[in-house]
Amino acid sequence: MASGRMAEKPAAEAARGRLLDGRAVARAMREDVARRVAALVAGGGRPPRLVAVLVGDDPASRAYVGSKTRASAEVGIAGETRRLPAAVEQRELLATVAELADDDEVDGILVQLPLPRHLEAPAVLEAVPPAKDVDGFHPENVGRLWLDQPGLTPATPTGVIELLRRYRIPLAGRHAVVVGRSAIVGKPMAALLLRQHCTVTLCHSRTRDLAAACRQGELLVAAAGRAGLIGPRHVRDGAVVIDVGMNRVDDPQRMEELFPGDAGRRARFAKRGYVLAGDVDFARVAPRASWITPVPGGVGPLTVAQLLVNTLEASLRRQGFAP
Ligand code: NDP
Repeated sequence: MASGRMAEKPAAEAARGRLLDGRAVARAMREDVARRVAALVAGGGRPPRLVAVLVGDDPASRAYVGSKTRASAEVGIAGETRRLPAAVEQRELLATVAELADDDEVDGILVQLPLPRHLEAPAVLEAVPPAKDVDGFHPENVGRLWLDQPGLTPATPTGVIELLRRYRIPLAGRHAVVVGRSAIVGKPMAALLLRQHCTVTLCHSRTRDLAAACRQGELLVAAAGRAGLIGPRHVRDGAVVIDVGMNRVDDPQRMEELFPGDAGRRARFAKRGYVLAGDVDFARVAPRASWITPVPGGVGPLTVAQLLVNTLEASLRRQGFAP
């Protein structure tokens, strides 16, 4: 049954454990992009070009940017990184973005967040032309999303919609609950689910009785950034559960609570001093869910894959190959 549910790649795990395999879907998405880039070049276009702007040398940001440029290269997108020192002035950062904005051969600009505190992120994000805004953070693209107009949409929630689409999980008319209202995940997730004709509830830290609100969800998307926040009492029987959370757990006792008897995680903890955990208490929630994403291997890989899709689509439009 699982193979019939997913268009490009059967997820063997899905049949056994009802896992939504983000890695397999991301791989299929990247293969699609590679094919479309090859067709673009064969048809007389130039390869899409993506430039990441990286301020400072925060190791996590460096790693994210590195994985984005590597993934670009693998599908034939020319990826490069502009590095600026942590102390760069706002003016200088804006000048770099303006230069990339004016360069006709740059299709996508992404400014890696968070920026150091002395810089004003909103002004920087607004300096990225909407047509090159592959992160979908520019106010014009945010407005277009809510107005149901075409535009670039944020990679993480768009990737979630693609995951659900490839597993043929029906959305129209279903009650979807999103936990978290950030501009990067929660709000665009709600808008995209609304676009799919879900009835949407958007929860946040002031929501009264979070568990009761979540239990309404036939689809539950957790994007709060709190390890294990979502337990079985938050989940309606048979719900589809999407875990966007990516949290470091560095307390051994908490790790044992969340992953009882998990030898692999214990070994990773011993080696690195932390493990990754989603917002969903996977061990206790999985038996209630019809489908669920693991962490890692769920939503994470989709984000980078969707960024490549966004870059390709920006490039096709900018080169006149798409409306
Ligand atoms: P933010 O911190 O910007 O937003 C968190 C949201 O969750 C806020 O709206 C907050 O409410 C809400 N929240 C926090 N605690 C609670 C609670 N106890 N009950 C209900 N709501 C709560 O985080 P992001 O949206 O940037 O990221 C969320 C998670 O997703 C993080 O773990 C992050 O690492 C992960 N992430 C993963 C990605 C991936 O590729 N897999 C990409 C992006 C993020 P309020 O607004 O009231 O403060």
